[in-house]
Amino acid sequence: MSIQSVCRICRREGMKLYLKGTRCETEKCAFERRGYAPGQHGQKRRKDTEYGLQLREKQKVKRIYGVLERQFRRYFSIASSKKGVTGETLLQLLEQRLDNTVYRMGFAESRRQARQVVRHGMILVNGKKVDIPSYTLKAGDKIAVLDKFKENTGVKRSLETLQKRGVPEWLEVDTGVLAGTFKKIPTKDEIALPVQEQLIVELYSK
Ligand code: SF4
Repeated sequence: MSIQSVCRICRREGMKLYLKGTRCETEKCAFERRGYAPGQHGQKRRKDTEYGLQLREKQKVKRIYGVLERQFRRYFSIASSKKGVTGETLLQLLEQRLDNTVYRMGFAESRRQARQVVRHGMILVNGKKVDIPSYTLKAGDKIAVLDKFKENTGVKRSLETLQKRGVPEWLEVDTGVLAGTFKKIPTKDEIALPVQEQLIVELYSK
């Protein structure tokens, strides 16, 4: 997918989804320049139905985490079978993904790139190579970049952006040795995504 088409997703959703890594933090960000929906009617106000709003919210979350429909449904069914608030559990499951954590720790510039980093076998979890992007982390898991990839230019470049992005409080990162810990499962407030996950629950509960 080209830069333009990825950025169209942000413009369509009406918010920055941070899909392009470093570019998202600069004035080159398409949403900063044209924060309205793409296309001929993009600047007109759109009136969504209740169903439309629920659908948009689901699309937004799927796009942020780069998860396809089938997998997203699976996360929802796990979340709804657990105790607690389904919407929050859904976001927690997405946050527990290895690719998401690799991105959050600054070892990749975007979740999309993090998926490649994981698939290329560049990541260890508790000392063992794991190349499954959807791998679910649990509290206390140790994540590290394999020694032979520590000089990788993509990883280094992405670490430079970490200062700007910041490390979420449920993670601990040692940028000197390119390793970190998934300390705990974050709460919804800590995840702090501008999404209304309750709308997704309503959508799937119909
Ligand atoms: Fe593109 Fe900006 Fe969205 Fe990043 S945040 S993907 S640069 S529109």
